[in-house]
Amino acid sequence: MSKRDYYEILGVGKDARDPEIKGAYRKLALKFHPDRNPDDPHAEENFKEASEAYSVLSDAQKRAAYDRYGHAGLQGAAGAAGFNPEAFTDFSDILGNFFDLGDLFGGGGGGRRHNRAQRGEDVRYDLELTFEEAVFGMNADIQVARMDRCDRCAGAGSEPGSGPTQCPTCHGRGEVLYQQSFLSIRRTCSTCGGSGRVIRNPCGQCRGNGFRQIQRKLKVTVPAGVDNNTRIRLATEGQPGSNGGPPGDLYVFLKVKEHAFFERHEQDLHCTIPINLAQAALGAEIDVPTLDQPHKLKIPEGTQSGAQFRVRHKGVPVVNGSGRGDLYVHVEVQIPTRLTRDQKKLMEQLRDTLPVDNAPAEKGLFDKVKDYFM
Ligand SMILES: [Zn+2]
Ligand SMILES: [Zn+2]
Repeated sequence: MSKRDYYEILGVGKDARDPEIKGAYRKLALKFHPDRNPDDPHAEENFKEASEAYSVLSDAQKRAAYDRYGHAGLQGAAGAAGFNPEAFTDFSDILGNFFDLGDLFGGGGGGRRHNRAQRGEDVRYDLELTFEEAVFGMNADIQVARMDRCDRCAGAGSEPGSGPTQCPTCHGRGEVLYQQSFLSIRRTCSTCGGSGRVIRNPCGQCRGNGFRQIQRKLKVTVPAGVDNNTRIRLATEGQPGSNGGPPGDLYVFLKVKEHAFFERHEQDLHCTIPINLAQAALGAEIDVPTLDQPHKLKIPEGTQSGAQFRVRHKGVPVVNGSGRGDLYVHVEVQIPTRLTRDQKKLMEQLRDTLPVDNAPAEKGLFDKVKDYFM
């Protein structure tokens, strides 16, 4: 690929003076700056091309050689065109430099990407609860594995007493300056990653990274009324952030065990109680278990199997709210399978006195049986 003429690139005449060249380059540098043209490889090419043209035309000696011999005049010269495109790979640094120049972007500070504060990751913890614990709430002591600042080196990464030393490459500044024409290009120091310090004697506990795995003990307050899959967030109890970023959060996922007797439907509870034939026919007062005290439930005369009774406010509390659901008691009339002789006699007497089709609910059934045998 043949190289374009440097004057043409900058859009200036062969007799252009230094201020004109400088102004033309600034205009192009701003226009094609990769930070202003993300994902545009042409802009990056144009930017490098303009920088290279400027580096030659702003240098009297190189410009003279170029005017006389063209691109060939710069071959083999010290540092070739004196332009190292690699120096421009980290564009944020150049932008930061532009900020420092002030007159280009109107002042203000530029940040270096390498040291950007990052929020720590969220952590998940699964907590299993009994049915009652979910209904009434509880305090759980949990232990969560996560990273924490190393206590041996206090997060510094060096063996106690040795301390990190100043980075020999950048002398503690965290960045290295390259002089490029009127631009001084800053790059994050690769030796220390921008921190300005290097660890000569890494901490034996964390191997120099300043963090270590710990088992953090926490108290979790589970409010009354939570259900399966409820999440409880413990802010800032996740992994620590880096470069001064905030820590993540801890999410406690609740898993609630089933109950042997009660079934939960949202805020209501359901249960099934067996009653005997006499209780169903004559009515009775029975003790119904609830999650609190047993409740005395009146069963009216003539209760059918499958009937349901509501006991108010014996259900599940509303989470972080007021009130409770209800308890629904389903009764199941038990037909005796084994009778004593006396019971049998009584049952026979009962049978002889009972009309065959007295119960309205069963009328249809008896009619069907009659129809069948007629
Ligand atoms: Zn350590
Ligand atoms: Zn350094």
